[in-house]
Amino acid sequence: RVLVGTKVDEHHANWVTAYNMLTGIRVSVSRTNAKLDRPLTDADFEAKQKSTFDIAGNELVPSAKYDFKFKDYAPWVFRHLRALFHLDPADYLMSLTGKYILSELGSPGKSGSFFYFSRDYKYIIKTIHHAEHKFLRKVLKDYYEHVKDNPNTLLSQFYGLHRVKMPYGKKIHFVVMNNLFPPHRDIHTIFDLKGSTVGRNYGEEDLENNPRATLKDLNWLRRQRSLELGIRKKRLFLEQLNKDVALLRKLQIMDYSLLVGIHDLQRGNEENLRDKTLQVFSPGGDANQDDSEPQSVLLRTPSTLENARKAKELRQMIRQERPVPMGQTASKMPDELDEQNRAGVFNQDDGGLRATHEDNSPAEEIYYLGVIDCLTHYGMVKKIEHFLKGLTSDRTQISALPPDEYGDRFYRFVEGITMSREEAERERQMKEQE
Ligand code: ATP
Ligand code: CA
Ligand code: CA
Repeated sequence: RVLVGTKVDEHHANWVTAYNMLTGIRVSVSRTNAKLDRPLTDADFEAKQKSTFDIAGNELVPSAKYDFKFKDYAPWVFRHLRALFHLDPADYLMSLTGKYILSELGSPGKSGSFFYFSRDYKYIIKTIHHAEHKFLRKVLKDYYEHVKDNPNTLLSQFYGLHRVKMPYGKKIHFVVMNNLFPPHRDIHTIFDLKGSTVGRNYGEEDLENNPRATLKDLNWLRRQRSLELGIRKKRLFLEQLNKDVALLRKLQIMDYSLLVGIHDLQRGNEENLRDKTLQVFSPGGDANQDDSEPQSVLLRTPSTLENARKAKELRQMIRQERPVPMGQTASKMPDELDEQNRAGVFNQDDGGLRATHEDNSPAEEIYYLGVIDCLTHYGMVKKIEHFLKGLTSDRTQISALPPDEYGDRFYRFVEGITMSREEAERERQMKEQE
């Protein structure tokens, strides 16, 4: 399901919003990235940069198709975060805004958030609630420090925090983050695991209509699955998860889950489902041929053929303005490092983590995994719970677990399901003997 999107074209209800989001990102991110790099200051974490777009434009802000206001939050912090996550600045902008193509995943959760994929499926734009937005700003410093100390963190990678506001419209807050699932591999099964069993079931009878549905904890248990990692990978994975959960506990966050996408190597890519389900296109055939496109600061929405050249130019431009790179990095620029070198521990096997046997020899699955939906503060949940309790007398319907307990339960669940096939087999035999 994750690869199934709805086209966002001019007739789409959210077209203007999507267009404005991308225009805002393009202009503000290229503006920040064009400057000389410098160390972060405390003020950078609180900073916000406001731009007003209109049809006329001015020296600072290029003209846009629509009138709207855009806010870029902590632009320097996110610039540094993108660098920590090894994103190439030019590639980032090209993926998101080289062509104005997005596909919308509707609102997959109960939260009412919208999800949009960049055209190459590398990035996800998620609209978030004001409370989540405020919370991310509040904990940004902790998050940043955590990412610096934990280059292989499993937590969602945040690349930008922004807001658009249309005339007479409401404010829309959104984040840009990593899509955990790769564009080039079919994901055969998806699980969203919280370590809870209450309400954590996806009706499997619906699975036929929706083979890419996101399954939950009870589906996982029913299938007697395990996250098949041999001794070495298991240790690395659990150690990192433990550190990540410690941060979430400290920040009083809950309701997050481990998202696991499984690629079955034996099934491989099936008759390229992607091409059939991915129905994205740009307005009027090709946004890039549109003359009313803003004459942007750095990217002039180039045609497909021009993309590579523009990206290179942009990269050079950004490079020239950078100070001379220090130390060993001087000889190699990001785009010259191959993907393998840049990939973290949990993305080393074709963007994911290859399942392994107990002796670390490879098994037949690749996992694409990470901890998602980690912007829910305990205080928010408590408020909602309180509100719901006022509406219904069913106190069991929603029951907020304090963040420490939530984290413990979550970690223990994942720890309990992480074992090689051999280990799982032994465990089964032991249970039978009892
Ligand atoms: P709720 O609060 O009701 O759980 P939400 O709107 O906050 O919903 P999420 O839990 O963040 O939404 O995500 C919903 C689904 O979207 C996930 O179960 C997953 O299928 C998909 N999804 C979310 N984030 C990612 C990601 N980074 N990569 C791939 N898929 C994702
Ligand atoms: Ca969720
Ligand atoms: Ca949520």
